[in-house]
Amino acid sequence: MTTAKTLRSPQALADAGLIAPERLPALERVAAQYSVAITPGMADLIDAADPYDPIARQFVPAEAELQARPDESADPVGDFAHSPVEGVVHRYPDRCLLKLNHACAVYCRFCFRREMVGPEGLRPLSPAALDAAMAYVAERPAIWEVIVTGGDPFILSPRRLREVMRRLDDIDHVKVVRFHTRVPAVEPETITDELVAALGSPGKAVYVALHANHARELTPAARAACAKIVDAGIPMLGQTVLLAGVNDDPETLTALMRALVETRIKPYYLHHADLAPGTSHLRTSIEQGQALMRAMRGAVSGLCQPTYILDIPGGHGKVPVGPGYLTDGCVEDPAGGRHAYPPRAG
Ligand code: SF4
Repeated sequence: MTTAKTLRSPQALADAGLIAPERLPALERVAAQYSVAITPGMADLIDAADPYDPIARQFVPAEAELQARPDESADPVGDFAHSPVEGVVHRYPDRCLLKLNHACAVYCRFCFRREMVGPEGLRPLSPAALDAAMAYVAERPAIWEVIVTGGDPFILSPRRLREVMRRLDDIDHVKVVRFHTRVPAVEPETITDELVAALGSPGKAVYVALHANHARELTPAARAACAKIVDAGIPMLGQTVLLAGVNDDPETLTALMRALVETRIKPYYLHHADLAPGTSHLRTSIEQGQALMRAMRGAVSGLCQPTYILDIPGGHGKVPVGPGYLTDGCVEDPAGGRHAYPPRAG
């Protein structure tokens, strides 16, 4: 169905026909804990008659979210342990996150920052906090890349984004600025020429990483929004979360990676879903993720291959988790054949 406004409550979802009214009491409890928002573009993509709809599964709250497991955590990737000043997460020497805001255009049911994001989540950075964050970056020459994230920085006004870029322009040792966003796919009409112009910088390489989990998210409008960004000379990368019931089969994952490449977005990371509270129904095992990567390796262009990544709980950083092709002096080919490497003489 077509909606005019972002749906922000279980009642709004029921009114739009996306949930059955009898689910309201339980889903009100979910929404009291974790924010809800589905943009008109994403609501339009949902087939309400399909109980397994992969778009609904990402954005429509589920009763299972009330069941947090002991191995899940409010801060699964350890942002807090690496936050020296408000708005900055500095885990690796040459780069840091700059979290300008904690609101998003949509709220993903698997979000690893689900305890922090939302209209009721942490406040956006105040002018004083932004000053302190910029001073932190300026005082550390080792910071080569700033990753602007949130929340979703693309829901900020072009004026605000331009101001942030202008301030980063003044820091010579920052050579790369990367924005992380879902907006070009979930609210493509807001990718205006003004917003794209605000990202430009004469002295920095600017990248935009799009978070997308299913090929259906790359609608004609989303592709046009991404084309505006790429045509402005800003390369795009793809980030995908591996999600049970959304993209955990080779055909669906391949279709997504191809759709990204066709949109001139290089698949960068396939994230193993983090241990965020109440998200176990959306997680696969690492073995399933490795099997998917193996299936794609044999069948799909190298351009379409992301790196399968685990963010180690507790803030220990991201590592690729395979699969590996070189074991015990043998390398495995895409069809599963094993070959000695280096080849044995004779
Ligand atoms: S857009 Fe990103 S930060 Fe916002 S809810 Fe989704 S995953 Fe979380």
